[in-house]
Amino acid sequence: MTDIILKAEHLKKVFISGKKSMTAVDDVSFELQRGECLGIVGESGSGKSTIAKMITHLEPVTGGQIFLDEKNITNAKGKELRDIYQDMQMVFQMPMESFDPRRTLGDGIGESLRNMGISHRETRERVENLLEKCGLEKEFADRYPHQVSGGQCQRAAIARALAVDPEILICDEATSALDVTVQKQILELLIELKEKENLSFLLICHDLALVQALCDKVLVLYHGKTVEYGSPDEIIDHPKMDYTKRLIESVL
Ligand code: ADP
Ligand code: MG
Repeated sequence: MTDIILKAEHLKKVFISGKKSMTAVDDVSFELQRGECLGIVGESGSGKSTIAKMITHLEPVTGGQIFLDEKNITNAKGKELRDIYQDMQMVFQMPMESFDPRRTLGDGIGESLRNMGISHRETRERVENLLEKCGLEKEFADRYPHQVSGGQCQRAAIARALAVDPEILICDEATSALDVTVQKQILELLIELKEKENLSFLLICHDLALVQALCDKVLVLYHGKTVEYGSPDEIIDHPKMDYTKRLIESVL
């Protein structure tokens, strides 16, 4: 039995500026199974972030359709869109940008809970649990973004994303801005969350070691088009396209 939580069909994005138009994503389709991790890899500019933004409605689609749990969410707005954000959350490359520099990490992590009308006290308790789940002491709730390291801030950003108890976590180069040892620690956290929390992941990254460790399926993008789609072992050990071979060589 298949249990597809997220499906993209023939996604397309054309950016128009002045008289020029540029196709950033061209007929990309994929399926994410519940509890699994789908990796999207490709060189810079290949359209990875644009896909993530269309899925999360930060950019409208030019063509194609998006389904969440079989429901067509391509043109969702208003309340429907707010409901979607309960199901999927995003973690970005620059953790500091997820937080207001003038407010504590705890305020940032608890914001969505307070917006749901949850009491101050319960919010604090949940924030502390979320921090601990993400490998931070609860005292981090009182720190400001500039008082923590990049890796700690990314942990807090993951805690913030988990606050609404989403089903899908979309990570757009969530480890790229961190140094190598910290990348590995965040990777370990993501693996742990995948095992313990029954989360489904859309993982955008160009670290193939991370892809191999975490992903059940990989989509390779080149100039907005899918050039490979399959298991990481198939793709990394037996790449069909020269582009994938070069991509593997350049990052290994
Ligand atoms: P990646 O995340 O793989 O590095 P992006 O999805 O950010 O790639 O970008 C894909 C292409 O779309 C690039 O050529 C980029 O310059 C272009 N692009 C992205 N966002 C915009 C935008 N808002 N307006 C115009 N072009 C854009
Ligand atoms: Mg990007």
